[in-house]
Amino acid sequence: MEQLIDISIRLQQISAQMAWLQQQVWQLTMMQGVGYRPSPPQGPTARDASAEERRSYVDQGSCRGCGLCVRVAPRTFRMDPQTGRAVALPEPRDPPSTIQMAVARCPVGAIHYR
Ligand code: SF4
Repeated sequence: MEQLIDISIRLQQISAQMAWLQQQVWQLTMMQGVGYRPSPPQGPTARDASAEERRSYVDQGSCRGCGLCVRVAPRTFRMDPQTGRAVALPEPRDPPSTIQMAVARCPVGAIHYR
């Protein structure tokens, strides 16, 4: 029985590591794809992205895990149970206006949306 519990715990650890790795890959992809900036972009960008090209990214160092973005745009953000912070899904399914609302309501400006 103890061996089964150990295996179960190990599987949970591996699952958590996989989720973390997926988030890291996503963030690196975002940094390379849209040009990472440490703060939200101000003013017009050099190129306006179409709605399909727009992507969101949650700065894990800034997110406080309040969950507001998930409540506003649940098809774009989810809470990572391992970190307690929000993450952006690779393919956002909320309308841009909803995502922008989530960006505006984030109390710490942790969401980048371009
Ligand atoms: S609203 Fe901002 S601080 Fe709150 S969970 Fe979402 S990204 Fe994190």
